[in-house]
Amino acid sequence: MLKGARANILEAIGHTPLVKLNRLGHGLPAAIYVKCEYLNPGGSMKDRMTLHLVNQAEARGELSPGGTIIEATSGNTGAGLAMIAAVRGYHCVFVMPDKMSTEKIASLRAWGARVVVCPTAVEPEDPRSYYSVAKRLAEQTSNSFYANQYHNQDNPGGHYRSTGPEIWEDTNGEIDVFVAGMGTGGTMAGVGRYLKERKPSVKLVGVDPVGSLYYDYVKSARLTKPFTYKVEGIGEDFLPSTFDPKLLDDIVRVNDEECFLTARDLVRMEGLYAGGSSGAAVAGAIKYARQSGKAENIVVLLPDGAAKYLSKVFNDEWLRENGFLGDVHGLGFVSDVLELRQRPVISARATDRVRDVIGMMKDHGISQMPVLQGNELLGLVTEVALLRYLASGDHSLSSTVAALAEGDYATVTPETRVELVQGLLVDARIALVLDKGELVGVVTKIDLIEYLAKKYGAPSRTSKSPPK
Ligand code: PMP
Repeated sequence: MLKGARANILEAIGHTPLVKLNRLGHGLPAAIYVKCEYLNPGGSMKDRMTLHLVNQAEARGELSPGGTIIEATSGNTGAGLAMIAAVRGYHCVFVMPDKMSTEKIASLRAWGARVVVCPTAVEPEDPRSYYSVAKRLAEQTSNSFYANQYHNQDNPGGHYRSTGPEIWEDTNGEIDVFVAGMGTGGTMAGVGRYLKERKPSVKLVGVDPVGSLYYDYVKSARLTKPFTYKVEGIGEDFLPSTFDPKLLDDIVRVNDEECFLTARDLVRMEGLYAGGSSGAAVAGAIKYARQSGKAENIVVLLPDGAAKYLSKVFNDEWLRENGFLGDVHGLGFVSDVLELRQRPVISARATDRVRDVIGMMKDHGISQMPVLQGNELLGLVTEVALLRYLASGDHSLSSTVAALAEGDYATVTPETRVELVQGLLVDARIALVLDKGELVGVVTKIDLIEYLAKKYGAPSRTSKSPPK
């Protein structure tokens, strides 16, 4: 074999460059560096974890020659697995949600995989969901191995062994903050665990798209109502066991627009040919850096490349159609709805008594109320929860309301588009508006109806009673 050659392409996984951002985030006291994982041979950071995952499966005898690898994947895990399968002689079947870009589906087929596309807008437990279909296929296919990245600890394990140590070496230990988006959460859990072991003061900052449930779960330990968003690969509508919320020091929320416009900036201003979730991670890192105001070294992981999103993020027409570019205002933003309502948020404190909360709800004519602990949102108390509590018997009106707070709401930001809120209110009873983690408003169905009616020219209500 030639001296400089690798035995096969799998040996080219890893050793991606760490690059300083020069224009994005300029003027901040922090220095932001990006780890260019999109330069891996399969196109993403998933190369590292799929290699570890397959090696472990082979070592355990779960995957044998001629076998079929099955996985639910948004594309990058599929590419990693397919690349390994090509080198080692396995078959692949991948199940994907239908919101994924056509480039991703085509590229998995190019790798020689069979691809099954499933609806995105169904619950994870639904038999049509891509998680359920993948599981069923694995049960029905002989000599198959279900990679199960959402629950296989070899996923974070791969990053713990490969990505984490490499970032540690790249930075010579002078890293203060690590920022990454979270899909399975495997990258954050693996890299984060490794970095914290080496240097406990390293801060781990997760980035989550508006619509995913991670943000609320980390902030208030509530499973709130998820809703759909466009950025691919990050955020979830359930809690995978590869996601480790306890590791996180902070979580930052980004919306689709920020993800896409920052991805375009990365390409055009820094020459980094990165995709939508890279834009999300950098947008989140800049927000974090702005908030912390510290002179520190921030490392951001760029998961995959721009080539997979040419028909979306890098296509002006698609961006414009979706209201992410230029002057298209669409139906407006949550801040517009709040401005029309001009209504103070009526909330309860965690220590308020059930009796007083009932009184407040009656006085204000409302059927639900956010519950706050200090400045933090604890949950939502509803008529239904109160009824259930009172009807169940031996309960006292002087108990505090904290235990009755539930997660039956979705959270949005003032910058969230009305189109999204309209969609989420089909499922969630109310949207709570958080600005930098603080509750600044609520939007109910009737608020939205009134806002849209006014937009289309209907006279505004004269009645003084606030809406339910
Ligand atoms: N970005 C993209 C494009 C991805 O495909 C994924 C994986 N779903 C992630 C980010 C998040 O990585 P992880 O699953 O390790 O949290």
